[in-house]
Amino acid sequence: MRDANLLDELRQLLGPGGLSADREALTAHETDWSNWGRSQPLAVARPRTTEEVSRLLALCHRAGQAVVPQGGLTGFAGGAIPAGEALALSLERMTGVEEIDRDAATMTVKAGTTLQAAQDAAEAEGFLLALDLGARGSCQVGGNVSTNAGGNRVIRYGMTREQVLGLEAVLADGTVIDAMSKLIKDNAGFSLKHLFIGSEGALGVVTRIVFRLHALPPSQNVALVACSSFDDVLAMLRRARSAFGGRLTAYETMWRVFIEAAHEANAALRDPFPRERPCRVLIELRGEDEVRDRGDLEDFLAGQLEALPGTEAVVAQSGQECRELWSLRDSAGEITRRLGNLANLDVSIPIAHMGDFVERCRETLTRRWPAGRTVFFGHVGDGNVHVLFGSPDFPAGEKPGVEAAVYDLVQEYGGSIAAEHGIGRVKSAYLDRTRSAAEIALMRTLKRALDPKGILNPGAVLGPMS
Ligand SMILES: Cc1cc2nc3c(=O)[nH]c(=O)nc-3n(C[C@H](O)[C@H](O)[C@H](O)COP(=O)(O)OP(=O)(O)OC[C@H]3O[C@@H](n4cnc5c(N)ncnc54)[C@H](O)[C@@H]3O)c2cc1C
Repeated sequence: MRDANLLDELRQLLGPGGLSADREALTAHETDWSNWGRSQPLAVARPRTTEEVSRLLALCHRAGQAVVPQGGLTGFAGGAIPAGEALALSLERMTGVEEIDRDAATMTVKAGTTLQAAQDAAEAEGFLLALDLGARGSCQVGGNVSTNAGGNRVIRYGMTREQVLGLEAVLADGTVIDAMSKLIKDNAGFSLKHLFIGSEGALGVVTRIVFRLHALPPSQNVALVACSSFDDVLAMLRRARSAFGGRLTAYETMWRVFIEAAHEANAALRDPFPRERPCRVLIELRGEDEVRDRGDLEDFLAGQLEALPGTEAVVAQSGQECRELWSLRDSAGEITRRLGNLANLDVSIPIAHMGDFVERCRETLTRRWPAGRTVFFGHVGDGNVHVLFGSPDFPAGEKPGVEAAVYDLVQEYGGSIAAEHGIGRVKSAYLDRTRSAAEIALMRTLKRALDPKGILNPGAVLGPMS
């Protein structure tokens, strides 16, 4: 039974604007980008400090009240949906960069800061925060850490986990875990930060983060390449890796259906190639010397045009043109919205089998659901492909069938059902396709140890606990 005093106590704790239960606020916090469902929260709590998060969780723990942490609500896994009348704990008022340490090359940021604001602050000091994704303007760094987000530069810098040196998190009972280390070498006991990175708010609320920063590469060069087959995409990737080494910061692939959908979403998008070419690749190089890097990229592409018949390429000649080429890839969010009722799958496949997987996936889905549309794109340099399948009137009841069909194939190829978007609520029933029984049992043991009453994001990742 709900503790009748809880909302009053929370209101008192959080002060003016700290707790909302009006219709507008509740509606704005009902769902994320997963299109999986909506659930009205009990109320929306907006703490300003770690101390407030700690006291809020202690009160909810005492009352047995479910709490769902929310960042920018851009997640695709339904992890932030406040199912079962949970309290939505929004980090939106915990914003700001606390420090940029030029000697240690670190940045200390509050969890509710948007990724874009953190990137800009790093850049203003001559550093690169290597994490980057299309949702940068809305997603929060706490959400990025909690989902271990991937994004556009993983091929060079790794996932979010690789960018986090330390963090602060609050456990379900309000205990604050201060693991704000700036040290690169720090092997003193278990590395507790990893419990919270990628655990999607099920083990703790991330409140502050120490990110590792990199030197800001002064030059950026971007090319868009049209390839005749996915085999050519892979052949070019192998050569690009050895030609550019650490300068290769993105290798994003878009299949023809993606390009068609992108142009339907925005006819002004720049794409100079005939629409029917099977694949596009966006290649980005970041380095020290703009002119030399552009020359290297042009020479490399000239070689590919000869080696891979039918290949065509354009190289951006200015920062504005780089942004124009990136906007084609960044239109994924808009395509997702326009496809309507769809299954949005994010899988990893051993890279050598990705072309084969895509063809079999397309065949399997269109044979069973001829009216549906399949869109493929992804961070192919990392073995990650996104599969969108649906249509404006695709029956919602058919989505589990689509998911099961794709995950069967993923399992067959030894891939992962969650490359970078996490498990959340959308995929919790499929966790055993990628994780063994022993792994899932250990996850449950950890969940019970850290959150014995199961108040933090119940149902997310592990599904029902009993
Ligand atoms: C256009 C677009 C492009 C995208 N591109 C990518 C991409 O390239 N790579 C990628 O990985 N993802 C991508 N995403 C998905 C999404 O942006 C990421 O998962 C992002 O990290 C989510 O951050 P958020 O702040 O929006 O979190 P939310 O959606 O609010 O929450 C996500 C999960 O994290 C938990 N959570 C949020 N904040 C905290 C916190 N402070 N403490 C504890 N738990 C918390 C929530 O409970 C939930 O389980 C994209 C999304 C869009 C809309």
